[in-house]
Amino acid sequence: MTKHLLAFIVVLTSMSAWAQTRPIEVHDRLAAESVGAKRVALTLDACSGRFDDDLIEFLIHDHIPATIFATKKWIERNPVGVAVIKAHLDLFDVEDHGENHIPAVIGAGRKVYGIPGEPDVIHLRREVTEGARAISATFGVAPHWYRGATAEYDAQAIDEIGKLGYKVAGFSLNADEGATLPRLAIEEKLSHIRAGDVIIAHMNKPASDSAEGLSVALLHLVTKGFVFVRLDQVDLQEVPATRLP
Ligand SMILES: [Zn+2]
Repeated sequence: MTKHLLAFIVVLTSMSAWAQTRPIEVHDRLAAESVGAKRVALTLDACSGRFDDDLIEFLIHDHIPATIFATKKWIERNPVGVAVIKAHLDLFDVEDHGENHIPAVIGAGRKVYGIPGEPDVIHLRREVTEGARAISATFGVAPHWYRGATAEYDAQAIDEIGKLGYKVAGFSLNADEGATLPRLAIEEKLSHIRAGDVIIAHMNKPASDSAEGLSVALLHLVTKGFVFVRLDQVDLQEVPATRLP
């Protein structure tokens, strides 16, 4: 074997190892049986940070149901937000976003968007189960869905989350890009919604435009006949991880 060929094989092997461990963003839509009647799901992440009371008060006022993915960290830091959500569990389903908002990628030194992942599988299990324990203890309802910080996962993490008894909650429409988008961009994104979409947005950055953009856009969707469902009422189906609108 020539030296060049050997070098080429070494490069290919390391590329495929990299591809296997590269985290993926899970994309889901409502499962076929759940799609009828222009159904869509609104999911809101409470990562760390604060409570966007404008957004939650808007949803309460206009009776728009949502699924909230909260971390233990957010729950501990936002007692007022927790009290408001607890008083409206008819509207809000609360699910697991982990203990400390650590991405579900496993291996020393691994990061997603600069945020360090888990050093090993034991730490991942703790992140998932302690997050779930905080939800059960605070809201009195055990979660069934898990969404990792950054919504990116590696294959081993997805496998472990499943073994712990949780379903991974992806999404198909990123409405606020981590609460970084201006109001008009949020409205523009939501104008492309289709029946069956799972929207992701954020409720932990009150200084962002998320509440303003979402309230205009969601009301518009209601007038167009869209119906909002929560993840405890439906199932999801994974779709290919292509670029989202
Ligand atoms: Zn998050």
